[in-house]
Order: sequence, then C-alpha cells, then structure tokens
Amino acid sequence: MTPMELSDRLNPVLDVARSSASKVDAEACFPAEAVSELRASGLLGLTLPTDVGGLGQGPHEFVEVVSAIAEACGSTAMIYLMHSAAAMTVAAAPPAGHPDLLPSLAFGQALGTLAFSEPGSRSHFWAPVSKAATSDGGGVRLDARKSWVTSAGQADVYVVSTQSAEQDGIDLYAVPSDAAGVAVTGDWQGMGLRGNASNPMTFTSEADAGQRVGAVGGGFDLMMQAVLPWFNLGNAAVSLGLSRAAADAAVRHTSGAELEHLSQSLAALPTIRAQLARMSLDVAGTAAYVEKAAARLVEPADDTMLHVLGVKALANDAALRVTDTAMRVCGGAAFSAHLQIDRMFRDARAGSVMAPTADVLYDFYGKAITGQPLF
Ligand SMILES: Cc1cc2nc3c(=O)[nH]c(=O)nc-3n(C[C@H](O)[C@H](O)[C@H](O)COP(=O)(O)OP(=O)(O)OC[C@H]3O[C@@H](n4cnc5c(N)ncnc54)[C@H](O)[C@@H]3O)c2cc1C
Repeated sequence: MTPMELSDRLNPVLDVARSSASKVDAEACFPAEAVSELRASGLLGLTLPTDVGGLGQGPHEFVEVVSAIAEACGSTAMIYLMHSAAAMTVAAAPPAGHPDLLPSLAFGQALGTLAFSEPGSRSHFWAPVSKAATSDGGGVRLDARKSWVTSAGQADVYVVSTQSAEQDGIDLYAVPSDAAGVAVTGDWQGMGLRGNASNPMTFTSEADAGQRVGAVGGGFDLMMQAVLPWFNLGNAAVSLGLSRAAADAAVRHTSGAELEHLSQSLAALPTIRAQLARMSLDVAGTAAYVEKAAARLVEPADDTMLHVLGVKALANDAALRVTDTAMRVCGGAAFSAHLQIDRMFRDARAGSVMAPTADVLYDFYGKAITGQPLF
C-alpha cells in the first residue's frame, strides 16, 4: 500500500474524529460517526492478513494510523487500538468454529475489543480470577466479571479471558455481543478518553470449543505473544499522538498570543520557549523509540520483548510530561478548555494506568535487564 493510498483511507476518519472530539469529550458519548468511518475505511483490517480481507500492513503503518487518530481524538484512537489488539489476537489463533470472524473484523462488520481486567486481579490482566465451568452441552459456561471494557455495549465481539475449565491456565474466548449472558453492568465516567464507553461487563455465556482463541490453557502465551506487542505499541502510539497534538497546540497558542504592552508573543519569553523546546524534544525522542520498537516487531531480535515492555512506559510518561507542560505554558487559555489542551491532558492520563501499567512495565523492564524472570 502506498502512503497516498493509506492517507486516502485515513483522512476521512481524521476529519470526522477531529470535528467530533470536543463533543465526544464534553458529552462522554461514544464516537459513533468516527467509528463508522473507520468501519468504511478498511482500516479496522489494517494489520490483518490480506487472505482474510485485511490490508496486510505492519507495525510502522499501525503506529502512523493510531498516532494520527490520537492527534484528532483520543477516544477514537483507543477504541481503534482495542479493536486492533483483539483482531491480532484472533488472527494469531483463529477460533476453529468461526471462519467468518476474521473477515468480519477485517472488513469492518465487526468491532472487537478485549475484556481482560477484572475487579479481583485489577490491572494484573494476566491473572483472571474468573473461572469457566464445563457445561452440560459439551462446551463451557463463562462466569466472568470484567471491570473495564472499552467499547462496552458497542463492540460486536469481545475477546474474554478466564481461567480454563479444563486445566490450569487461561483460556480466551471470542464472544459475540448478542450471546445470552453478555451484559454491560454499570456506568463509566472517565476523567479522560470519555467517549470510550469503558464500562464494567459480565459474561455468563455458554461458549463452545469453536469459539476458543488458541489451545486449551493457551491464553497466557497469546497474551504475551500477540496481545502485548500490538497493545503496547498501539498504546504508545496513542500517547505519542496526544503528545504531538498538545505540543503543536502549545506552539500555536504561545506563538499567536500577544503581550501587547511588550509587543511580543508568549513564545518570545525565554522560559516559555525553553519549555516548548523540551516538549518538542520529548515528542521527537518518543517518536524515535516508538519507531525502534515497531522495527523490532518487523524484524524480531533478542531484545524485542524488552522494547515491547519499554515502549508503552516511555511513551505514557512522556505524554504525562508533555501535556502537563502544554497546560502550563498556555496558562488560563488552556485551563478554559477552548484550546482542547485540557482534553489531551486528561486523555493522556489513561495510558499509564492501562494494563500493563507504566509502573508494572518499569518493574518488568528492570527484571529483564537484570536477567530476572518476568513472572
Ligand atoms: C480508559 C481505560 C480503558 C480501559 N479499557 C480496558 C479494556 O478495554 N479492556 C480491559 O481489559 N481493561 C481495560 N482497562 C483497564 C486497565 O487495563 C486496568 O486494568 C485498570 O486501569 C487498572 O485500574 P485499577 O484501579 O484496578 O489499578 P490497580 O491494579 O489497583 O493499580 C493501582 C496502582 O498500583 C500499581 N501497581 C499494581 N501492581 C503493581 C506492581 N506489580 N508493581 C508496581 N506497581 C503496581 C499500578 O501501576 C497502579 O499505579 C481500561 C482502563 C482505562 C483507564
């Protein structure tokens, strides 16, 4: 796919996402129009293989698309990321009984998401406390309470984690939204990414072996090999896009805001322009590291997992710094919301608390560089 072809698919999504971002944030409403543009664009299949109808693109294009959407609307970008992480997990081990699932995720008929986090194990998504039971019909009965599910009540398919009914270990099931026993169980009001619909849900559905993603007890390996690389890279790209948007908005505002009595702009103040420089360098450093991590996914090396761990933590924390500085240098103008820097500031706070959280990743990264086992 040429860069022009990618832009032709992406630009209509960006136009809608950008124009609705402020309303989505203010009203905490799901960005339905932007998601419908995403469905029509083919980008829901960006990284899925061409033989199932995807566009067959790789980590670099994924970073480009996710970060561009995040520059326009953080909520839309996170919904897109959760879909892509779910789709790539399904692609790694397609459920035997649903050959139509991958094409529908690729062509945009099905919006997917991950339902991993639970009230019991909190951000330790690799340790669900819910446990499936074998059911009379030969399948399993799920019994999972999930604490946060992005696109709750909006997605068409949920990739649900649970302790296996059959052996020690985790199973993943692709559960359609219209299955009996799938329910959104509470409200969600976030300080940022307010359009995400990241509500709690319960899954008490019957599932058959044909819905299982991967082998019995194979969920943990899929989490490490499929979910973590794509989710961490994409989450870093969301942070990068939000950082870039905040830095650009700060440069624009401080360059245009006049101190008439001094005949100079805010950006002409040495303190302000030095802060702008720090932000700009933070964004450049983050972008370079995100590209490095993407390159390691394209051509795996011994340190690929190290960069998968590091990229999310680094980009999440950069976004906290950059959006905080943008608020500061733009003063009351940023506080009063019309610059939308406050939205980026609030949206950026989600990245570091989404699992694996930045602090958990620093711990893992520290273990990795000192030769200690991660788990
Ligand atoms: C906007 C948003 C969207 C989300 N969407 C989804 C979704 O689609 N699917 C899904 O499954 N989940 C989703 N989540 C949930 C998310 O992945 C986390 O599970 C959730 O944010 C954890 O919140 P908590 O209060 O349970 O954190 P806690 O686990 O209570 O953590 C509290 C603090 O303790 C720290 N901590 C915990 N363990 C360690 C450790 N071992 N070492 C060091 N520090 C540690 C954490 O870093 C954090 O700072 C979403 C969350 C948000 C905010």
